[in-house]
Amino acid sequence: MHYVILRDDDTCAFTPPACLERIYRPFLSRGMPVNIAAIPEVRTEVRTPDGRLEGYLTAGNAPDVPLAPIGLGRELVGYLKAEPGYHIAQHGCHHDILEFGDSDRRELARRLDRGAKILREAGFPQPAAFVAPYDRLSKAAFVEVAARFDVISTGWFEARNVPLRWWAAYVPKKMRKRPHWRAGGRYLLSHPGCLLSFQRPRGPMLASVRKAVEGATLTVLVSHWWELFPGGHPDAELIGIMHEVADWLASRPDVRVVSFRDVASGRVPIN
Ligand SMILES: [Zn+2]
Repeated sequence: MHYVILRDDDTCAFTPPACLERIYRPFLSRGMPVNIAAIPEVRTEVRTPDGRLEGYLTAGNAPDVPLAPIGLGRELVGYLKAEPGYHIAQHGCHHDILEFGDSDRRELARRLDRGAKILREAGFPQPAAFVAPYDRLSKAAFVEVAARFDVISTGWFEARNVPLRWWAAYVPKKMRKRPHWRAGGRYLLSHPGCLLSFQRPRGPMLASVRKAVEGATLTVLVSHWWELFPGGHPDAELIGIMHEVADWLASRPDVRVVSFRDVASGRVPIN
């Protein structure tokens, strides 16, 4: 059996629920859980290194405030809570550039706790998983996140960022080239890059997903809703490829789509 986790990043107060509905209905209607990595209190002026506003800010609308808690998107929150197939993961706090790449433990803890409080105030249950903005976690960030979450989902694990106390688990993981591992009672999951991205060639996209899923016990597939709605306008071709992925996942009796919570429960073999 191959297991798949669908992880969509950057849902925040700016996200029109209709975007998520259009992308994910074919998954949800087949009973596949979708993990939404939600930004609790998005900074509304986050810019990429080339000076442009982040795509998740320009693909939607939110009130003109410096920090927008997700609860301001009342329609969005109602939509997410009404659909049992959505599972919320915490995606940083404000989604500042490399927000969890810093090593000030007190500040990291403050952001984690503030983010959790804002998600709670919006009425979401305690998330099982944490996703760092830009998939970047410092050593101190791993320690603080692991104190609060069962599952950490990120891109990869660099030796220099692995806490000393995890090395006894990290060395065999590295030697056996395992994509996922456990340390300190937590699940540490990597992913094979953002295969479903507008930065990738579209022709081989579905094939790359199939190859990744068939080559592993558990694969985390990362997507970003706003890449399918650049500037708020649907990219019908890319949305179509997402729906082909849903068709393919549904067609395979040996593939099961699970949530981060399923992993946290220990019911999903990870390697
Ligand atoms: Zn993000």
